[in-house]
Amino acid sequence: MDAGVKRELEAKVVAGERLSREDGVALYESDDLVWLGRLAHHKRTELNGDRVMFNVNRHLNLTNVCSASCAYCSFQRKPGEKDAYTMRIHEAVAKAKEMEDEQLTELHIVNGLHPTLPWKYYPKVLRELKSALPNVKLKAFTATEIQWFEKISGLPADEIFDELIDAGLESLTGGGAEIFDWEVRQHIVDHATHWEDWSRIHRLAHSKGLRTPSTMLYGHIEEPRHRVDHVMRLRELQDETGGFTVFIPLRYQHDFVDSADGKVRNRLQARTKMASPAESLKTFAVSRLMFDNVPHVKCFWVMHGLSVAQLSLNFGVDDLDGSVVEYKITHDADSYGTPNTMHREDLLHLIWDAGFQPVERNTRYEVVKEYDKPTPLAERRAEPQQVWA
Ligand code: SF4
Repeated sequence: MDAGVKRELEAKVVAGERLSREDGVALYESDDLVWLGRLAHHKRTELNGDRVMFNVNRHLNLTNVCSASCAYCSFQRKPGEKDAYTMRIHEAVAKAKEMEDEQLTELHIVNGLHPTLPWKYYPKVLRELKSALPNVKLKAFTATEIQWFEKISGLPADEIFDELIDAGLESLTGGGAEIFDWEVRQHIVDHATHWEDWSRIHRLAHSKGLRTPSTMLYGHIEEPRHRVDHVMRLRELQDETGGFTVFIPLRYQHDFVDSADGKVRNRLQARTKMASPAESLKTFAVSRLMFDNVPHVKCFWVMHGLSVAQLSLNFGVDDLDGSVVEYKITHDADSYGTPNTMHREDLLHLIWDAGFQPVERNTRYEVVKEYDKPTPLAERRAEPQQVWA
């Protein structure tokens, strides 16, 4: 990148000026990863100091049966397939109860678009979960699922939200966003929820007092300009509602072969590789710089491995996903040896070892507990250091 452009961008970031679409594309064109990290770290430190938030949650997928066939998805199954499953309500509750001793504060619930499950199943499952685990917040359903509920119930999203909130819904999840640009979207997405409906549903959720996460699936067939466009749309919506708590760049998972049947389900396989760790760090950094009105940027460590997750904390990230005992959507696509369980103690040490202060939060990003500041590196050198895979 031209030294003059670099100076201009740096001056804008330091002055707190909003970056333009062209600035975003220029940042992606830079190969100076250290410089990008330094700029993003400046922004991240302004907003969040040296704090790293996390929560202790459990991911629950009630069914993998889905009416859609998104090209990148290796989670969905069709009715009658050997490993298709749908949980009965008491099974979902029993799974959630298994984690009770871990003091979890959140259940993260995402599902396939089941063709025959009735709409009433969903508020009922929330009610039962809430009654079994009254202190656990329910972060449930993508905007895609809410639109699916509109279709199967004949009710408008407004009434659907009222019933789900009454049943205990605390937040939507951020999924279904992928990449909003239609040029890309038509090749990867098979469900019906595109920007117009995704934004309509999150706007409505915000108007009802819910705060929601936002996501972006990157590293497949999109180009940097599509990532910039994606963030610009979210930034505009955030200007309007202020309801997004966090932005989560999700790394597309490439080369999965299902060990149960040897099948590759991802239909983008022949056209894609996967974002390298450097590309992921760049994406975190540019996202932090562009999405200037969202308070937090999250790294979902299951998709990156623990070392990259630690590094990401210097590239704009200030939030790590918590203890994940089961997360089928990612783990059906993961053959990189990333552990699928992290407990509170593991996370604390991961954050301290990276030189940051851990802060436990709840679903609404309110502080549950602040932990000690990290020991300065100079004082730690005499001791053997933990190696994070
Ligand atoms: S991404 Fe979601 S909607 Fe698309 S096929 Fe997979 S489970 Fe279904």
